[in-house]
Amino acid sequence: MTIVSPETSHALSADLFAFQGQLTAEEQLVLVELREFLDEHVRPFADDWWERAESPRHLLRRFGELGILGYGFEETRPFASSSAFRNWIGLELARCDPSTAVLVGVHVGLGMGSIALGGSQEQRAEWLPRLASGELIAAFGLTEPDHGSDTARGLATTAERRGDEWVLNGAKRWIGNGTFADVIVIWARDLADDSVKGFLVRTPASGLTATKIDRKISMRSVENADIELVDVVVPERDRLQRASSFRDVARVLRHTRLESAWHAAGVSMGAFEAALAYAQSRTQFGRPIASFQLVQQKLADVATNITATLAIDMAASRLSDDGQLDEQHSSLAKAFAAGRLRQSVALCREIAGGNGVQLDAGVARYFGDAEAIYTFEGTHEMNSLILGRALTGIAAFIS
Ligand SMILES: Cc1cc2nc3c(=O)[nH]c(=O)nc-3n(C[C@H](O)[C@H](O)[C@H](O)COP(=O)(O)OP(=O)(O)OC[C@H]3O[C@@H](n4cnc5c(N)ncnc54)[C@H](O)[C@@H]3O)c2cc1C
Repeated sequence: MTIVSPETSHALSADLFAFQGQLTAEEQLVLVELREFLDEHVRPFADDWWERAESPRHLLRRFGELGILGYGFEETRPFASSSAFRNWIGLELARCDPSTAVLVGVHVGLGMGSIALGGSQEQRAEWLPRLASGELIAAFGLTEPDHGSDTARGLATTAERRGDEWVLNGAKRWIGNGTFADVIVIWARDLADDSVKGFLVRTPASGLTATKIDRKISMRSVENADIELVDVVVPERDRLQRASSFRDVARVLRHTRLESAWHAAGVSMGAFEAALAYAQSRTQFGRPIASFQLVQQKLADVATNITATLAIDMAASRLSDDGQLDEQHSSLAKAFAAGRLRQSVALCREIAGGNGVQLDAGVARYFGDAEAIYTFEGTHEMNSLILGRALTGIAAFIS
């Protein structure tokens, strides 16, 4: 990996140790181009999308044109890249708009990731290029109304083989992009052997109903769906051919949990930048609030959280590049990052005072969106328990 010195890198103000300088020059240029795109096409509109709870799904086509959806897959990548670079794309999206990061994260990490890890060569060839261009949109259906943290213990959604077809029945909850995706990866329990299998459900599908979940306080511009499956027929050729148990789901989540840890760094950076600007411009007692020691303490704590999170994210990404990333690594990274994120956005919110609870000061959206990051991709407790199991050899999910 080429080391670009901090002086020549395009480091962000909250990247105090210039971690971005460890990416290749080619990778950094992609990020600079992406940042410009986001400043023009996302930043000015993100609060309105959030207020209206409207997904900016049109962006996927634009991201496809920019080429940022396909870096993770041999079929669609313009050049081989590092995990840190691919996740830094997510960081940039989250730094600008966390919901946009999730729109892309569900499509690429969960949707395309499931096809890449669980699909045959033919399935990869059929789907990955069209998803990388943004022509088609993907979603990922694992969580159910009655099974969230315990999905590994058994899904209620069932799959029954009938000749060359499968029949799916059940319900899914919280499925991001679920109201408009062209293909939804549905994970279901095979009635014959109780193992978990993945199915590429093309929409619209007879028997599948997706209803938008309203009244959210977090990730409002992500369209999450309640999905009902009543005798949905899927041909055998659309079953993920290389996914045969929950272990295959876990292989996907190992990477998306790390991605969430990178998103957490991006959300913290977005909140930090807004809070710092606010502290420098807001005056009380005749001077900028940034000049008060107690305000500087908050800024210092947030900057330290961001730096520590980035250090762990970089180290975990290096493990991923070396094929050494285990689930306890991504669980540690995600649990740490999400915990620090929650503290950081609260401090940033405080710095903006009363204006911190209103969108215009630029902090409130990050504050709200942090809550979902804390809970999805494994709750804080689940990720701590996965790490605890690795440390002790004892699974403590049920005490
Ligand atoms: C905005 C958003 C987007 C999402 N997108 C998707 C998506 O695209 N696809 C998808 O499949 N899912 C998605 N999810 C679902 C998400 O993954 C789940 O919400 C998450 O896994 C937690 O499940 P749950 O909500 O059912 O909570 P529960 O599992 O009911 O947990 C409730 C609480 O109990 C705690 N708890 C549970 N078991 C234990 C235990 N053994 N020990 C200690 N504490 C425990 C949990 O940590 C949590 O605090 C999304 C969720 C949100 C909010």
